[in-house]
Amino acid sequence: MNRPAIDWHARAAEVRPDGRCFIDGQRRDAVAGETTEKHSPVDGRRLGAVARGREADIDAAVRSARAAFEDRRWASQPPAARKKVLQRFAEAVLAAREELALLETLDMGKPIGHALTVDVPATARCIAWYAEALDKRYDEIAPTPETALALITREPVGVVGAIVPWNYPMIMAAWKIAPALATGNSLVLKPSEKSPFTALRLAELAVEAGLPPGVFNVVPGHGGEAGEALALHMDVDAIGFTGSTRTGRRMLEYAGRSNLKRVFNELGGKSAFIVFPDCADLARAAATAAGSMFFNQGESCNAPSRLLVHEDIAERFTELLAAQLPRYQPGDPLQPGTAMGAIVDDIQLRTVLGYIEAGQSEGAQLVAGGRQARPDSGGHYVEPTIFVGVNHGMRIAQEEIFGPVVGVLRFRDEAEAVRIANGTPYGLQASVWSDHLSRAHRVARALRAGTVHVNQYDEDDITVPFGGFKQSGNGRDKSLHAFDKYTELKTTWLRI
Ligand code: NAD
Repeated sequence: MNRPAIDWHARAAEVRPDGRCFIDGQRRDAVAGETTEKHSPVDGRRLGAVARGREADIDAAVRSARAAFEDRRWASQPPAARKKVLQRFAEAVLAAREELALLETLDMGKPIGHALTVDVPATARCIAWYAEALDKRYDEIAPTPETALALITREPVGVVGAIVPWNYPMIMAAWKIAPALATGNSLVLKPSEKSPFTALRLAELAVEAGLPPGVFNVVPGHGGEAGEALALHMDVDAIGFTGSTRTGRRMLEYAGRSNLKRVFNELGGKSAFIVFPDCADLARAAATAAGSMFFNQGESCNAPSRLLVHEDIAERFTELLAAQLPRYQPGDPLQPGTAMGAIVDDIQLRTVLGYIEAGQSEGAQLVAGGRQARPDSGGHYVEPTIFVGVNHGMRIAQEEIFGPVVGVLRFRDEAEAVRIANGTPYGLQASVWSDHLSRAHRVARALRAGTVHVNQYDEDDITVPFGGFKQSGNGRDKSLHAFDKYTELKTTWLRI
């Protein structure tokens, strides 16, 4: 029998999220008792008060994580036991699917349908995958003389500080939490002040699943307060950061000013989507570009925000792209069929509208969108927006907009396409559309990006690394490679 459809508005009216810190297995108010009011970008409703963590709260959380690490309450458990806890944690996330999805939608504005089918399952799969992986990695023995043995082992790095953004609050948190916990570390997580609620719930679910208290702590707060205190803390061994390139630069400065903690940055992007005239299925290319660009309101680090199209097919491609737009008009995020939801807050809304103005004043032509949408909703919405006549040097072609705004840039030949594609400070992702294997391969090799897609953009999986070249960051989230961030290599010589 089919379940009756869920009335998400009715459920939303009942939501009373707990915004207190989670330290040493317990909820706590911030030491100074300060809070910040959180409103939903969906319709402006008040969601609740969130603890405004500061240095004292971060210090309490780091002490708790350090104590848990030093007494080995987690790291010394046999791998099979740690695996079981993480598997139960993943199951708990799936069991709380509707609660977490609704919190995510209300907190940052994404459509409930996406939160249910993408964000929650991807979070659970990430945790379950690292649970499965944790006892599949073996240490090494070096080739040595017969009289000695050199063991090369991977040891947890210690106390990890994780600082994450608001665009995929749960998934970004899981990409840090799961490999860090799987390798035996303790963790202090600082979610974005714009979307703190699901990370706090994840920590509660982890402890309910059997994670010892103190191993995973969450302190909400502002970047320049709680975030800075965590990144400067002398007893934090590594920072796993995801966010803007501007803040990533700060992370390196903080490490230099404090204890030279390891810093792993996953930063911004300005991904190029290159369409050659020998792409046989232009309609599929245009549909894929629109789907990848407008998913999550364009608030994705890997959004293909620069469409590089050969001059012979640029007009046809733009028509096909514009024909996709009716599917992506912003709608009520609490309606399951909505494809594009709300922009996270008023500040981001103004940033996006500012870039639309900048594009026009720099001489690009607006062919669709460009305005604020749903003005009576009480929330923050922007129409899906397409610019043509975009030149490589314009701000909208160089800077990350982080909203539903895409630019079409024309190119004449392969060398120019590669030059434009590589001509920003970023290097996160790229896509090449061509039915000539040798061209597709040649261009893919020439692109300076952490991930290159050929004739597609949407495949993704926890099994493959995610991260960027150049100012898109260092280190990689996801896959077995993420273990490298959360472990130190140790050599032990044994005389035998
Ligand atoms: P942001 O850099 O403003 O903030 C990210 C996190 O850092 C937040 O928790 C914030 O509170 C904290 N922070 C801000 N200033 C800080 C400071 N001075 N000291 C310490 N912490 C500070 O980024 P955002 O607006 O939250 O997120 C959007 C950015 O994240 C985009 O650039 C996007 O491309 C990037 N992103 C990258 C990836 C990736 O995997 N490469 C994934 C998602 C998002």
